[in-house]
Amino acid sequence: MDNHKYVFVIGGVMSGVGKGIACASIGKILSSRGVKVDLMKIDPYLNVDAGTMNPTEHGEVFVLDSGLETDQDMGNYERFLGRSAGSFEYMTSGMVYQTVIKRERDLGYGGKCVEAVPHVRNEIVDRIRRAAKESKSEVTVVEIGGTVGDFQNALFIDAARVMHLKQPGNVVFVMVSYLPVPGTLGEMKTRPTQHAVAALNSYGVQPDVIIARSTHSLDQKRKEKLAISCNVSSDCVISAPDVSSIYDVPQNFENDHLSDILLKRLGKRAKHTSDLKAWNAFAAHAHNGKKTVKIGIVGKYFDTGDFVLSDAYLSVIEAIKFSAYHESVKPEIHWLSAKKYENDPKAVRELKDYDGILVPGGFGESGIEGKINAIRFARENKIPYFGLCYGMQLMVVEYARHVAGIKGAHTTEIDPSTKHPVIAIMEDQKKKLEDKNYGGTMRLGAYPCKLTKGSVARSAYGADEISERHRHRYEVNPAYIQQIEDAGLVFSGKSPSGVLMEIAELPVKDHPFFLGTQFHPEFLARPLSPHPLFSAFVRAAIKKGGKK
Ligand code: GLN
Repeated sequence: MDNHKYVFVIGGVMSGVGKGIACASIGKILSSRGVKVDLMKIDPYLNVDAGTMNPTEHGEVFVLDSGLETDQDMGNYERFLGRSAGSFEYMTSGMVYQTVIKRERDLGYGGKCVEAVPHVRNEIVDRIRRAAKESKSEVTVVEIGGTVGDFQNALFIDAARVMHLKQPGNVVFVMVSYLPVPGTLGEMKTRPTQHAVAALNSYGVQPDVIIARSTHSLDQKRKEKLAISCNVSSDCVISAPDVSSIYDVPQNFENDHLSDILLKRLGKRAKHTSDLKAWNAFAAHAHNGKKTVKIGIVGKYFDTGDFVLSDAYLSVIEAIKFSAYHESVKPEIHWLSAKKYENDPKAVRELKDYDGILVPGGFGESGIEGKINAIRFARENKIPYFGLCYGMQLMVVEYARHVAGIKGAHTTEIDPSTKHPVIAIMEDQKKKLEDKNYGGTMRLGAYPCKLTKGSVARSAYGADEISERHRHRYEVNPAYIQQIEDAGLVFSGKSPSGVLMEIAELPVKDHPFFLGTQFHPEFLARPLSPHPLFSAFVRAAIKKGGKK
């Protein structure tokens, strides 16, 4: 049996209290002690991956190098650890059942009756062990999605219990729980967390550490109350109050000595004391910058009922922040619903107040002409513009229509019978759509891209060849490239074969920054190494904004 260490993180009381950020922060503080860590996310739903889920309901779909479409928490993991995750670090119930059922169909169970316990549970344990092995880490932090008491995640908790049973010294349980402060009382209540721990106990699992999420810090009295009623030592109850920036969480955990506690419980020696210097210097930017840069994101996945959610574009927002912080400015990000710009020229003109405009990835028809109007306004009024995936395709449509004189140019995603399909479906994709074979079949994951000498993109990256992550079915149609380039738009990034257009841009002499990428650069932006294209965009926006 290996000597690998595992930290299982389980939610108590309710979801949405920052379990993902807690896991990412645990990863960060352990790696800041010189320990090799990897982070794994378990999503208990039956979707085989996150690719088929609506971003308004589920948040962003985060794509790995391998092309696996995952939960947005994986993005936080990559950003906190500063490295790319492997497919084996993500698991859904759908994936697990698919493997088990396939094995059963292949007679892989030798005629046995195949059951959730032990067969599905064993597959879960195997996958966790595989993640530990393939990542070559010393400690694997595993986030079990959902909340204790859910029907859906019970098998995962049971798998963790069995792993603990077999190697008690190598497995630690952390519960991230919520302590409400009811407005009418004005007092923090520990009881829901006591019940959550009791529920976890009923699975045969005892938490070693409780991370107490609340609007306020935990006082000593409540720490002790939780400790005694939940059977944990009071120094293992960590105060985790709301913070204005998630990047402060690692240091907050360290204020309560969490890395010491975990390493001690795991019987693991740190290589050195906590080194969060570079991280904290970055995190401080969220509080310090004086000058601001005003960026408008024109998109559609914002509204759910009466609420505006920005989760669908999480990586884009973080990427803007990293570049802005690096330039010592604060980003002021505005959500602009694309529909607003469809038939209202006055609203479009108001876009002049923004220092930079960004159109992120997207699918389908809703708001599309509004996005095209916004892009046109940015081009004609020399407002820095950055288009990501759909934002690049629509930039090409806009340029084709209004500059290259290709009247009625469109993407076949919206108008399959357009006379001028400047954006068209890739041949190999056609059949997949005809067969309704949607899941995991787009052009996904990392692909190389060659940059043109002297271009805006080439000078931003400082390299001739790059690799970026993709998630799309449509492409710039090769039949129109010449005509569009003759009109002045430059395709400055291409696939090594030269067939696929990866980056479109206007030369600096024509526009301060007008650039779009077929790929999603936001997935590779990291706190300590901001993405070069986002930085070039933000710098252009700062220049437009002048001194503020
Ligand atoms: N809908 C477009 C396509 O499938 C763009 C996708 C995206 O923006 N991620 O090609």
